[in-house]
Amino acid sequence: MNHYFLAIIGGGPAGYTAAEKASKAGKDVVVFEQTSLGGTCLNVGCIPTKTLLYSAKQYFNAVNATKYGVTAENVTFDYAKIAQRKTKVVRKLVAGIKAKLNNEHCTVVNGAASVVSRTDEKVIIACGEEQYEAENLLICTGSNNFVPPIPGIKDNEAVWDSTSALAATALPASMIIVGGGVIGMEFATLYHEFGVPVTVVEAMPTILPNLDQEVVAVLREKYQKSGINILTSTKVMSLDGNKVTVQSAEGEAVVLEAERVLVSVGRRANVQGLEALTDLAYNRGAIIVDDFMKTNLNNVYAAGDVTGKIMLAHVASRQAEVAVGCMLQEMPVQRIAYNAIPSVVYTNPEIASVGMSEKDAVAHYMETENKSQEEATECFEVRRMPMTFSGRFVAENEGEMGLCKMIIDRQHQTVLGVSMIGNPCSEFVAAASFAVRMGYTLPEFRQVVFPHPTVSEILKEIL
Ligand code: NAD
Repeated sequence: MNHYFLAIIGGGPAGYTAAEKASKAGKDVVVFEQTSLGGTCLNVGCIPTKTLLYSAKQYFNAVNATKYGVTAENVTFDYAKIAQRKTKVVRKLVAGIKAKLNNEHCTVVNGAASVVSRTDEKVIIACGEEQYEAENLLICTGSNNFVPPIPGIKDNEAVWDSTSALAATALPASMIIVGGGVIGMEFATLYHEFGVPVTVVEAMPTILPNLDQEVVAVLREKYQKSGINILTSTKVMSLDGNKVTVQSAEGEAVVLEAERVLVSVGRRANVQGLEALTDLAYNRGAIIVDDFMKTNLNNVYAAGDVTGKIMLAHVASRQAEVAVGCMLQEMPVQRIAYNAIPSVVYTNPEIASVGMSEKDAVAHYMETENKSQEEATECFEVRRMPMTFSGRFVAENEGEMGLCKMIIDRQHQTVLGVSMIGNPCSEFVAAASFAVRMGYTLPEFRQVVFPHPTVSEILKEIL
């Protein structure tokens, strides 16, 4: 049996980042991946979605170019070609990960791994006919699309999840999207920009309920004006083929119909293959970890979606770095900080945020400083600035609205969070992340020079 310093189950952003870091430090590493390196993000998540969305944006912008004095006639698209390009992009990036791990002499085993046994000294893992022994185990098994227990949803051929939607080589004639979260709104953007009629059914009173609601309101208004049918406070009662019975906000039963129904109501941690770790502690199906990514079992760590913390690829890779740093006893000791994690929703316009939203800030002061809700709102300042204060934004976003909001701690004058809507805010939210992560005060942040003319200058203007 081969012996390793580290065995990693799952080759997604957490798994391959950990493998690279530990190998670079001279450790023997084995990674088990049952499908394709790159995980959900690279194969059936972030990258294929963004590739398709880019084609949609090219088409949409060409069709709507007259507002910039450009007329493009007979603009068409070939979705089969667009889907082919997506596959090519994914293959290229997966090959890149493979090459990286090869260069680091990391062993990659293709197959479904499962834990056989564990002691404080070693973990035994089986994959196919072989067994592998490692001093440390890092669980990076990711998550799966959640299928809600709605009558008629299971084994329904009209129903897609995000993976089947990405695999399609033709567009549906019409689409109902169940769940107006991140996946739902990105797919709503994709189909809408290609001219597919879209209805979004969201159970909560708002789409993207976890984001700053003032920012979300800008998106909702634009999308409703442009013809996306958004139904909030609407519950899906049952499905019959491509017919979806919902209970409207007014409490009436309404039957909606479309060629396809995309279900995007969240993801759940994937903990298959870990059954032998009988003492491993879970919280609502996700593995419990501390700030060093340690589980309750000595020498067993977890990183990524399986921890159920924040299901984002960049969180997964940071968690993996922290986990390996801890195994290597790196100094200074690193721990994961969740207060400055940027997140982006690739709608058009994009939404990007980092740190606290207004609602988070109220909860924060109520919890940490024992304030009443009213007192909590006095602890921070909310600054707002339309994106049109940026010259570049005005030049490139004819007729578009945009908003930048900043949350500032009144006492210390530090930046707690930023929420924005307006293209291309995904590309400069990292500047706000620096400020939040490093605890910049406003006078410190003001010393940063932003290039002109860029939309990023909005972060300077708002100071
Ligand atoms: P989500 O939690 O973002 O959204 C799910 C939505 O479905 C919520 O708004 C919820 O209220 C709604 N919902 C739940 N049950 C419902 C029901 N029965 N009927 C109608 N609505 C219902 O989950 P998601 O959009 O599926 O995304 C999964 C994960 O993947 C998230 O953690 C997300 O952050 C991540 N992701 C991130 C990106 C990105 O960073 N750009 C892109 C895609 C996915």
